[in-house]
Amino acid sequence: MPQSDHQHAAAILVVSPSKSTKVNCWSCGDMRAAHFCQQCGKVQPPAPVDYFTFFGLPYKLNLEIAKLEREFYALSRHLHPDVNAISTPEEQQWSLEKSSQLNDAYRTLKDPISRTEYLLRLQGVRLEEQSKAATEEARRTGQAKKQVVPPDLLEEVFELNMQLEEARMNKKMGEPDRSLELELQDRRKQLQAKYDGMMTELYSTWSAWDALVERAEQGGIVLDDDRIAIRDKMLDVLNRRSYLRNLLQDVDEVLE
Ligand SMILES: [Zn+2]
Repeated sequence: MPQSDHQHAAAILVVSPSKSTKVNCWSCGDMRAAHFCQQCGKVQPPAPVDYFTFFGLPYKLNLEIAKLEREFYALSRHLHPDVNAISTPEEQQWSLEKSSQLNDAYRTLKDPISRTEYLLRLQGVRLEEQSKAATEEARRTGQAKKQVVPPDLLEEVFELNMQLEEARMNKKMGEPDRSLELELQDRRKQLQAKYDGMMTELYSTWSAWDALVERAEQGGIVLDDDRIAIRDKMLDVLNRRSYLRNLLQDVDEVLE
């Protein structure tokens, strides 16, 4: 693989040292920090950055939540309208915009699933389009929105759907089948265990991803194929997890 491809992969993984640090503060002319001037403390204009960069974080998925939270509250305080009461209307507007950016960034990064989805988006995965295609297909065919059944669940899902269908029918006729219900409860337990296990699987893909980022940070070679393989594995875990969640909902609906 040509050298340029290695560099390309590394560039996607490593947060470039914040360009904003090299820009002069609009007020005092000194070098400015990401959100506030380190010299005069004035708020700086919002920049269109991704949420990791907003917090000065590397593109890693193992994240110290307590640290993120502290950073969030510290920035919130600084950007609060009361603190900025004496500033110009323009600075107040910047604070407001940054505040909203801060809230979005914090909400997205603190949740393990939305953090993973966000990173996948940054990595070029179009999660919305996948979901949009499924919605359009459902509208077109008049059937419930369907997800592709994960291959390892195929047999199980087939049987389960037949049992669910039977249980729904029984319910409609007012003739509940106690043994079928017990069996469904048992299956539900197994599905729940599988669903809970998905987080462990997700965390292991996180570690593989973070190792890649660390290698890139240290100037090591990262092959695009490796990056894409881990990225797609993460996507696969998320898809199977969401499939299991929908399945659990289906069972709950029948059992309630
Ligand atoms: Zn300044």
